[in-house]
Amino acid sequence: PDRKAPVLAARGLVREFRGFRAVDGVDLDVAEGSVHALVGPNGAGKTTLFNLLTGFLKPTAGSVRLGAHELAGRPPELIARLGLARSFQITSLFAELTPRQHVELALAGRTGLGWRFWRSDKALGRHSERAAELLGQVGLDDHADVPAGSLAYGRKRALELALALALDPKVLLLDEPTAGMGVEDVGRTVELIKKVRDGRTVVMVEHNMSVVSSLADRVTVLQHGQVLVEGPYAEIRHDPRVVTAYLGD
Ligand code: ADP
Repeated sequence: PDRKAPVLAARGLVREFRGFRAVDGVDLDVAEGSVHALVGPNGAGKTTLFNLLTGFLKPTAGSVRLGAHELAGRPPELIARLGLARSFQITSLFAELTPRQHVELALAGRTGLGWRFWRSDKALGRHSERAAELLGQVGLDDHADVPAGSLAYGRKRALELALALALDPKVLLLDEPTAGMGVEDVGRTVELIKKVRDGRTVVMVEHNMSVVSSLADRVTVLQHGQVLVEGPYAEIRHDPRVVTAYLGD
């Protein structure tokens, strides 16, 4: 009773692939306003869990609640509208659209597929002020009007972040926000996430433990589709079970 009700809560989540349990009875409580990291060795079930939370996969069993809403089995677009948004994948960016156009379309509620008709989209320009603000927040002001296809990798990832923020989500999910980045871009991305999250709840899958230590309030360590340990980074990092899991058993 002395702890606040979690904004996002999973109970008994299971996902089977032909009888194999990639996620095997996961309970997850994400406190409002916290940064919660999902970590674990390769094959632990992090991506599958992430896809269950965002509706990209349907659970075999279990529930996911966002505030008063049950999300399990709902489609991703509805889940995003209820307030749980994931950073877009680079593969969904349109090479010839500029960052500004991407963000304006996202603010108008257009989805990736709708972007194909952007030339005739009357929504473009309707949200120009907010678009400029978001582009500024993620550091893309100087690259707002070049084709997204010509952006460097780190800037494409910044654009994805702006697109997720355009939905103004209650909970922001970040899928390996520093994957494939060099040390400098990793540092920049950590600072960027600190700046843009603005008190918002964040759930992230992250391999880089220095990123986890500088961003996460709590960490859930997965192994073989189950929760191995949960707690603050400072507590879990020396846990012998976690060390063993990473060394392989
Ligand atoms: P992680 O993201 O932690 O590396 P994943 O969630 O990608 O782990 O995978 C967990 C386990 O589930 C792995 O053994 C993987 O091979 C299996 N798996 C994931 N997706 C599928 C799928 N679509 N079909 C069959 N097995 C899958």
